[in-house]
Amino acid sequence: MRVRFAPSPTGYLHVGGARTAVFNWLLARRHQGTFVLRIEDTDRERSSDAHTRAIVDGMAWLGLDWDEGPFFQSEGVERHREAALRLLAEGKAYRDFSDGEAVREEARERKMHPSRVAREHAERVDPEESERRAQAGERFAVRFRVPDGETVFEDLVHGETRFGNDDVDDLVLLRSDGSPVYNLAVVSDDAEQEITHVLRGDDHLSNTPKQVLLYRALGLPEPLFGHVPMILGSDGRKLSKRHGAVAVSAYAEEGILPEAMLNFLALLGWSPGDDREFMTADELVAAFSTERLLKSASVFDSEKLGWLNGRHLAARPDDELADHLRTALGDEPSFLNGLLEDEAWRTALLEVVKPRARTLDDLVEQARPFLCDRLSYEEKAVQKHWLRDRDAALERLERLLGAFDGAEWSGEELETRLRATAAEMEVGAGKVIHPLRVALTGNMASPGIFDVLVLLGRERVDARISEGLERIRAAS
Ligand code: GLU
Repeated sequence: MRVRFAPSPTGYLHVGGARTAVFNWLLARRHQGTFVLRIEDTDRERSSDAHTRAIVDGMAWLGLDWDEGPFFQSEGVERHREAALRLLAEGKAYRDFSDGEAVREEARERKMHPSRVAREHAERVDPEESERRAQAGERFAVRFRVPDGETVFEDLVHGETRFGNDDVDDLVLLRSDGSPVYNLAVVSDDAEQEITHVLRGDDHLSNTPKQVLLYRALGLPEPLFGHVPMILGSDGRKLSKRHGAVAVSAYAEEGILPEAMLNFLALLGWSPGDDREFMTADELVAAFSTERLLKSASVFDSEKLGWLNGRHLAARPDDELADHLRTALGDEPSFLNGLLEDEAWRTALLEVVKPRARTLDDLVEQARPFLCDRLSYEEKAVQKHWLRDRDAALERLERLLGAFDGAEWSGEELETRLRATAAEMEVGAGKVIHPLRVALTGNMASPGIFDVLVLLGRERVDARISEGLERIRAAS
């Protein structure tokens, strides 16, 4: 099995292209096949090295390694041209000397496809004359003579697919400047690189009968095609910039992990056949099969991407996450050097913050109050839970300070004491938890308060409650 990813370097690696790359890579890896990277750079105006680099970087980020290439389509131009000339010599293609504008005009008047008009014109020129005019240097395009009948191929996604050849126009193979067209280049390259399977977006479905006809005319073995449905935005329309980021690199910048993106892309139009969603690269490879490529369009669900990212984040080794926290927070003047070295404490911290983090940035923010001694207080939280009823907040925090005094520092014990304090004051536990949370974390939301208490430890809890009390008193 030999498969390929064949991006045109006319832009960055976008979600749709990346998904195509992922499917082909999974197919190759699943069957120990060869994954070829081919850069389709024949559109010289729109192609650039910067785009090629962006695509290659995007693939590397996703972990999509290739076995051969990158090949550049532009390097095969001579071979593409030879293929067209061979078809011409065999009478399967013809010279088209006609003036494009005049042909289009005539086609409009006669309500015909321009290529049919061009064919009529060409047929009026006998072979010797055609040869003479070509020798004399007259410019011509080479058009493929689409045979009568029907083109049938087996699509891995859609099953048997038929096109009436009447609906396929006599495509130009070589333009009058001698440059080969895209459909010819793709066929010639896929044959040259001995590609056996082509998975690509169904925006290419209309090219496929042309390509199949070319394979057959050239006597080349044709690959199996599978056309995967497009990706829709949450509003049901084709995914585009309108829906936000479409460049894969933008997700990297937003803190999406490559393994989560890979997992997410693989599930856009494919399913493992059971209810698994969180899957590692190895699991995806082991489960991949073209039989479960879906026929219907898939929706890009950012919520799900975030959720998967959180799962993959949590699956990263603790060491690595701790390193990230050290790098992100280590420069802060109040960073509590050494805390992360205590393995039991570190495990407890990560257990508490990981489920609340979808990205590495989230993880840092969640962990910050535990690792940095200087809190930044969320204005909204201060207003709502401290200053709206200052006396109540003061009283509750003072009582808690007393209640925790001498307590055995376990979650259970602290919970018992906190609930008892609330009951004595005849308020619900929430009424004491809210001002306490602001004092301990500075935030409106945090992990469970008893986890927070245990992680911070007696001294820091005392210090933070005391600081909270001072701040409330000082606020006018
Ligand atoms: N170069 C084409 C594209 O980027 C893909 C061609 C193919 O997969 O056959 O859309």
